[in-house]
Amino acid sequence: DRLVSAGASADEDRIERAIRPQRLADYVGQPAVREQMGIAIEAASRRGEALDHVLIFGPPGLGKTTLAHILAAEMGVNLRQTSGPVLERPGDLAALLTNLEPRDLLFVDEIHRLSPIVEEVLYPAMEDYQLDIVIGEGPAARSIRIDLPPFTLVGATTRAGALTSPLRDRFGLVQRLEFYSVPDLTQIVLRSAGILKAQIDDGGAGEIARRSRGTPRIANRLLRRARDYAEVRADGVITADTAGEAMRLLSVDTNGFDLMDRRLLLTLIERFDGGPAGLDNLAAAIGEARDTIEDVIEPYLIQQGYLMRTPRGRVAGKAAYEHYGLKTPERLAT
Ligand code: ADP
Repeated sequence: DRLVSAGASADEDRIERAIRPQRLADYVGQPAVREQMGIAIEAASRRGEALDHVLIFGPPGLGKTTLAHILAAEMGVNLRQTSGPVLERPGDLAALLTNLEPRDLLFVDEIHRLSPIVEEVLYPAMEDYQLDIVIGEGPAARSIRIDLPPFTLVGATTRAGALTSPLRDRFGLVQRLEFYSVPDLTQIVLRSAGILKAQIDDGGAGEIARRSRGTPRIANRLLRRARDYAEVRADGVITADTAGEAMRLLSVDTNGFDLMDRRLLLTLIERFDGGPAGLDNLAAAIGEARDTIEDVIEPYLIQQGYLMRTPRGRVAGKAAYEHYGLKTPERLAT
């Protein structure tokens, strides 16, 4: 498994649940999101209403699932969780929706992967808390309407652009999660270390934070690896040195780039002369799925200026040449 990859394994899921912040006050960073959601939660609670539907988007590991759980906890309601690809038929969605208590929260991960027929059923459910479903087949088929309790749909997606506009328009609150700053990640690492009872100093936490690609899931993952290293090869305390050494063994460089980032950037520079290179060509050249490049690898590289997305394809940024000690081409010199 790729160290800086997006998804979490089952084992990691369990650990993640243990260190996941439970309340809005413990959700580090994302000040705009925290403030807007804080106001929306308080207003809905005072009126005794369900929270408006919320769409959360951002790259994997940035805290979408965590935020959904926090919203339910702050509203004092249950959370039911599913995902776009799992809801194959309208009946799957109907089963979930009809089991909700008033004001409950339904979390749909990867909502951009809902099938069109399920999406159709979702529109009136979101808008009027009504479900129109067809039962039976052929001449005996008939449509029935079911009233639903008021509920909150929280949808998460890695790509805002992949959502149909009728669906997007039905969310009252849209939150975009940003990559986290090094101080925010340092705070996350120190907090997680406390929960995991790992010994760490500020230097160690900073070193891990700097190499986490702006992503809390990666920060927590690197923390666990650094803890292993410190316990086996040092005196158990994660310092800047032990963290750095642990990361070196994992081939995570000083910027947090791993072998896949390296392969992508160096292929673009060396095989495609810095680009522009089409996404499909690049995917074929490095043997990685197009979606993985788009959703997992490149967002951070783009945000940091190592890679640019242009109408003609991907282009390597000046920072990429500098990071790998290569001569910057004339066209990027200024
Ligand atoms: P996503 O659903 O976007 O893939 P998650 O919500 O599963 O990401 O977050 C991954 C892990 O990162 C969580 O287990 C949590 O411990 C940590 N995390 C995410 N966001 C924050 C945050 N704002 N503050 C502290 N920890 C966070």
